[in-house]
Amino acid sequence: MSLLDVKNLRVRYDGPRGPVWAVDQLSFELSAGELVALVGESGSGKSTTALALLGLVPISGGTIETGELWYEGRNLLTLSEGEWAKVRASEIALVFQDAASALNPYLTIGLQISEVLETHRGLSRRDARKEAARALGDVGLPDPEAKLANYPHELSGGQRQRALLAMALVAKPRVIVADEPTSALDPALGLHVLELLERERKTRGAGVVLVSHDLELVAAHADRTYVLYAGRVVEHASARELFAAPWHPYTAALWRARARLDGERPRRLAAVPGNPVDLANLPAGCAFHPRCELARERCRSERPELSGVLRSDARMSLSAARRAACFEKESLALERPLESEP
Ligand code: ATP
Ligand code: MG
Repeated sequence: MSLLDVKNLRVRYDGPRGPVWAVDQLSFELSAGELVALVGESGSGKSTTALALLGLVPISGGTIETGELWYEGRNLLTLSEGEWAKVRASEIALVFQDAASALNPYLTIGLQISEVLETHRGLSRRDARKEAARALGDVGLPDPEAKLANYPHELSGGQRQRALLAMALVAKPRVIVADEPTSALDPALGLHVLELLERERKTRGAGVVLVSHDLELVAAHADRTYVLYAGRVVEHASARELFAAPWHPYTAALWRARARLDGERPRRLAAVPGNPVDLANLPAGCAFHPRCELARERCRSERPELSGVLRSDARMSLSAARRAACFEKESLALERPLESEP
């Protein structure tokens, strides 16, 4: 049974150029102990999805038009703000993409982490401080005791990001949503963060939703990956299959664009050729068709549904749960053998 089950989520923002649907018909599942990755270009709806999992879309100015978010037999999208307060942090925690604005600038790091521990784990002020220092050490911050007295602006960007992760982990939530938790970190620290998430999964069965532009990291650590384009899932598969043999031309383009500069992990996803999609003015048919080398007449007028591939060779069993929204996926699926793994 899944830990989290998102069904048909649709989120609208009313912008200056009219409404945009940042997330559209998005469904995904997360099992206990599983790491599911959300990948896609900037503006594809990853953070909006992350906010939706925490009931924060209305606060960010958006509207949930449709959707269900099932957790422990309850559709969380029907909860009142008061009920959400009991779920947030203790059951489902979010490591925000923007650590600087997610931390309160007027409170010390120690106070902010202690508050989570006092509220959600019932610790005394003294025990909470001890535990907060331990948590900061755990995420690799040097001199954690001293860091407790620091204000967010006194930490570097990478340190703030890790303090935020520490704050999310201390309440031992069953679901951890981590939005680009390694973007401000060098590769060694990024790996450390992934190891911490790994530990939460293995030791207590937490489920992790990871948003990351680092596709190598995703390929190495995710169980399953959902690829987003213009707010829709265009492909999902096990991380192993996905990048070894993409079915969607967009997934293939993302993988090709992951190029490392100077052998370093890129801080941002390198650009996929063509103009990024304009949500306020979506093209007819497949939203990716203006940038797609394989686009045909049908792609310009008809929107492909997310579906599997009908074929009955030996690879079928591995591919049973795979889906892609592309009219050409059959030929792509056959073209690229699974042997050519990354
Ligand atoms: P990135 O990789 O840059 O973090 P993302 O995939 O997280 O991108 P989102 O932040 O979810 O993308 O944004 C999806 C779309 O929704 C974008 O077009 C964005 O401009 C729009 N959007 C996001 N937040 C708001 C908001 N509060 N008000 C209006 N539009 C918004
Ligand atoms: Mg984002």
